[in-house]
Amino acid sequence: MATVKGYIEIDRELCKGCEVCISFCPKGSISRTDKLNAAGYFPASFSKDGECTGCAICALVCAEVAIEVYRG
Ligand code: SF4
Ligand code: SF4
Repeated sequence: MATVKGYIEIDRELCKGCEVCISFCPKGSISRTDKLNAAGYFPASFSKDGECTGCAICALVCAEVAIEVYRG
C-alpha cells in the first residue's frame, strides 16, 4: 500500500512564531525561520526536505489558522 504523503504551507504573515506546530509535528518537519514577518515574529516554515504524512496535527494546533495541509 502506498504511503500517504503530504506537505504544508504556512502563511508567514499570519504566523505568530509560537512554535507550537514545531513541537507537535511527529516528523520534526517544521522549523523556525530567521526572517521577521511584518508583525515582528519569526514565522515557522516547512523544512525543505521534511517528511510529512499529512496528519494535519500542525494545522489543528495552530491558533492562528496559518497552516494549510495538502495530501497526495
Ligand atoms: S502554531 Fe501557527 S502561529 Fe504558531 S508557529 Fe506554528 S504556524 Fe506559527
Ligand atoms: S501534517 Fe503532520 S507530518 Fe505534516 S508537517 Fe503537519 S504535523 Fe508534520
